[in-house]
Amino acid sequence: MRVLIVEDDDAMASALEAAVVSAGHKPHRVSRGADALLVHREHEVILLDLGLPDMDGLELLRKLRQVTGCPILILTARDDERSVVLGLRSGADDYLVKPVKLVELLARIEAVTRRAGRGGPERSHSIVLGELDVDLDRRVAAIGSRVLSLTATEFDLLALLARNAGSVVTREQILDALWGDAFLASSRALDVHLTGLRSKLQLPGFIINVRGVGYRVEADQT
Ligand code: CA
Repeated sequence: MRVLIVEDDDAMASALEAAVVSAGHKPHRVSRGADALLVHREHEVILLDLGLPDMDGLELLRKLRQVTGCPILILTARDDERSVVLGLRSGADDYLVKPVKLVELLARIEAVTRRAGRGGPERSHSIVLGELDVDLDRRVAAIGSRVLSLTATEFDLLALLARNAGSVVTREQILDALWGDAFLASSRALDVHLTGLRSKLQLPGFIINVRGVGYRVEADQT
């Protein structure tokens, strides 16, 4: 996979590049936000440092999100919860805390790959719930003629809930399906992705909280 690394710190960038290479992926490193905007199309996943010399990382994230559905993982300083939440709200799919652990970085990249490559031949290609149409092949969701601009994670979340319409999906099931080896930190991220998905759906009550258990969408959307 071609991995775009947007990082101005040389030592950090070298470590990330080495890790990406060791997993058999192909890194390309840029240190400025403007360069990331120029080359992002040639990559399948983006690692984005939020502290860049030429523009605010969150601003860059929003700009990237307007032009690409490519999975974006943000890199943040330890315990910078505010940046994590703002980043996820601005369209990041996941985040990594610096110093980034090699095993965690690779697991996250693999989770992203697995999700992006999903949709085997045995799977039904589209899920229709009332006005909502979730196209699993093209990874596009629409309500009537309104196409939703979802991040990769929001799409996966919606597809998972829609696929299990009529049943409760527990938080553990969601974390496991979306983040694989379920890093505990992702629980908070799930809440942010859920909030983002709900605001884009604009269907109040579509995703039902089942208190203390998980979430459900109704199979019978009339
Ligand atoms: Ca930086």
